[in-house]
Amino acid sequence: MATLLGMHTIERHRIPDTDEALRAEIRAFIAEAIGDMPAERRARSWMGFDADFSRRLAQRGWVGLTLPTEYGGAGLGHFARFVLVEELLCAGAPVAAHWIADRQSAPLILRFGNEAQRQCHIPRICRGESFFCIGMSEPGAGSDLASVTTRAERTAHGWRLNGGKIWTTNAQHSHYMIALVRTSGTPADRQKGLSQVIIDLARPGVNIHPIVDLAGDAHFSQVFFDDVHLPEEALVGAEGDGWLQVNAELAFERSGPERLYSSMVLLERWLAWQRETARAGAPRASIPSAWAGCSPSSRPCAGCRSA
Ligand SMILES: Cc1cc2nc3c(=O)[nH]c(=O)nc-3n(C[C@H](O)[C@H](O)[C@H](O)COP(=O)(O)OP(=O)(O)OC[C@H]3O[C@@H](n4cnc5c(N)ncnc54)[C@H](O)[C@@H]3O)c2cc1C
Repeated sequence: MATLLGMHTIERHRIPDTDEALRAEIRAFIAEAIGDMPAERRARSWMGFDADFSRRLAQRGWVGLTLPTEYGGAGLGHFARFVLVEELLCAGAPVAAHWIADRQSAPLILRFGNEAQRQCHIPRICRGESFFCIGMSEPGAGSDLASVTTRAERTAHGWRLNGGKIWTTNAQHSHYMIALVRTSGTPADRQKGLSQVIIDLARPGVNIHPIVDLAGDAHFSQVFFDDVHLPEEALVGAEGDGWLQVNAELAFERSGPERLYSSMVLLERWLAWQRETARAGAPRASIPSAWAGCSPSSRPCAGCRSA
């Protein structure tokens, strides 16, 4: 069925039965893996970092679901991945370890990287062994991303990297960063002269400082690069194509349902609490008992079902 929204016509599709059939298997795995995880941890959703959980998911073939089998992916379609993402996020599974690599780093390397980069990185991502972070924002380049100043200069053996990134989600737990850097010109050149590089975060000269947020979590970091040597093959795609590539990467990042589904655990607990307090006529101070009650296997949660 086609729906007219302004100037755009959107084709609506049902999830094919073969992809929908994955749901029960995924739901059973999640219930077994995190059934006893408290709601306040599950509410962190895709900010919840648990390398073991990611590796177990990978063993089931559920990391790199849409990536080609020749690189260790499952070779399935995007509807299958939608079902997987929906189940993981609605349950509040701790997916952060593999999330960025699976969602955008591997697809970016597949699309713009060379064959050696694909062979090197994608199979390890699919096995849940290699975690990536996103190096776009800088202290002076947030919404205005074209003003990045971090610079990679050519040397006889590759690149010398200086500068830094900020708000880098899980940099402190990641093995690699894909960063947008300036390889020629000046920040006044804006989108021209930008490139993307893969940075091994274990290299000398990389310093990672976690940032503690108002809730006491430290899920993002400020990252400093001080004369970091990168090999020639750190460059992804063509030099100077960084702006085009980073926009493609942002399309992988921002086109999924995360922003909606990552609030689901919180929303369910809030609704359960509202109903519980309304039924009991209890004062609102009873949040903790409602918060503790719901497990991922009981979705929709007991409070929602019985209302
Ligand atoms: C939870 C979280 C995780 C993140 N993880 C990462 C990550 O892993 N990697 C990464 O690179 N970045 C990350 N970011 C950074 C993020 O994606 C944005 O780049 C960054 O938050 C915006 O930059 P800024 O903080 O410097 O704000 P600014 O760009 O300074 O913007 C501040 C305010 O001014 C407004 N504004 C800016 N320019 C204009 C204008 N011209 N006209 C009108 N209003 C304007 C903005 O809308 C905003 O409200 C993360 C951010 C969050 C919140």
